[in-house]
Amino acid sequence: AKSRGKNNFQMFSAEMHHKSSTRLVLETEMRVALEERQFELYYQPQYSLPDQTLVGVEALIRWHHPQRGMLHPSSFIPVAEETGLIVRIGEWALEEACKQAMEWKSLGATLRMSVNLSGRQFRQESLVNTVTKIIEQTGMDSSLLELEITETVLMEDAETTITRLADLKSMGVHLAIDDFGTGYSSMAYLKRFPVSRLKIDRSFIRDIPRDADDVAITTATIQMAHSLKLEVVAEGVETKAQLQFLLEQGSDMVQGYLFSHPVDAQHMTDMVLTGKCK
Ligand code: C2E
Ligand code: CA
Ligand code: CA
Ligand code: CA
Repeated sequence: AKSRGKNNFQMFSAEMHHKSSTRLVLETEMRVALEERQFELYYQPQYSLPDQTLVGVEALIRWHHPQRGMLHPSSFIPVAEETGLIVRIGEWALEEACKQAMEWKSLGATLRMSVNLSGRQFRQESLVNTVTKIIEQTGMDSSLLELEITETVLMEDAETTITRLADLKSMGVHLAIDDFGTGYSSMAYLKRFPVSRLKIDRSFIRDIPRDADDVAITTATIQMAHSLKLEVVAEGVETKAQLQFLLEQGSDMVQGYLFSHPVDAQHMTDMVLTGKCK
């Protein structure tokens, strides 16, 4: 038993070593990526209901890795968050998104731009200064900017969250609760958070209208949000049946593969210009 224990330990530490060295490599590569502009923003359209008009986009980061091709955020954002590099990556993303929104505006398309903020960014003391600086530098119309923060991050230290959100809101930006339903919200705080939108996590949308539990959760979430004067965005809408259900329940907005995958800036510009937006 003793020797087996020892072997287990050796395997365990070898694995840990492997993990930490990949993390180190990834961190170094991300620093290079920032300098060499390997990150790119994709945009996924958001439509209002019931008219299905294009009203905004969510910016979603991609990494053109020189060896591994295009990487999705799940393969690097967690490490960026752990190492703190997310702060610089997030600043880059915010600036890039604001520039793009202003470019579309100059082409006559006034679209709201939603940008994801990680927990680490949200808790940065300098966040408000950073956002102010980027808005000024890019000439961004702050009423077109929306920051998405996950429910879990918001609820972590809810009292501090309230002040932080209020500071951001005073700059004229909109705030949305992302991945709603996956964390543990307190109703009392939901009421006190100065947010304007709530995004229902796509895990609840996936099996509607077939799954009775998810139907109940989605219906109740929409009703609760509306009674708190919040708008609802349903994410991950992939089927006409889901859309039909969301129309009936009064979801304010939808986003998902049924309408469009996230696309690069050029594609999004084409969609905007050709009016291919519903
Ligand atoms: P999220 O904010 O919940 O973004 C929605 C994710 O769902 C995106 O994945 C999007 O491509 C995907 N999606 C959209 N419609 C559908 C659909 O109909 N079906 C399915 N199955 N998926 C759909 P993506 O782009 O891989 O991003 C994953 C996560 O990475 C995001 O989740 C967000 O938490 C994070 N992320 C992305 N960009 C940034 C960023 O610039 N900063 C930070 N901090 N996080 C980011
Ligand atoms: Ca999001
Ligand atoms: Ca989400
Ligand atoms: Ca279920």
